[in-house]
Amino acid sequence: MSCGNPHDKDCVEVLDRVFDFIDNELKNADKDEIQHHLDECLPCLQKYDLERTVKALVARSCSEHAPETLREKVLMRIRTVQVEIHETRTE
Ligand SMILES: [Zn+2]
Repeated sequence: MSCGNPHDKDCVEVLDRVFDFIDNELKNADKDEIQHHLDECLPCLQKYDLERTVKALVARSCSEHAPETLREKVLMRIRTVQVEIHETRTE
């Protein structure tokens, strides 16, 4: 799935930094760039949502026992989205 529009910022670049974005470890200028990209790029936004879900799961697993199968499922879905994005890019 892709919006098909060209973006100022490369999708791969955005996805490389999406963890930092979630962790709030980016400078304001970088954060704005990522946010802007997520606003206009659905595949990256979906990936971002998945990363957030995984982070929430991992955080929760510190206190209670990790739902390992669920975590595996989410991680697998992330890989699928990544592959889809890469395939879209080489078209
Ligand atoms: Zn993108």
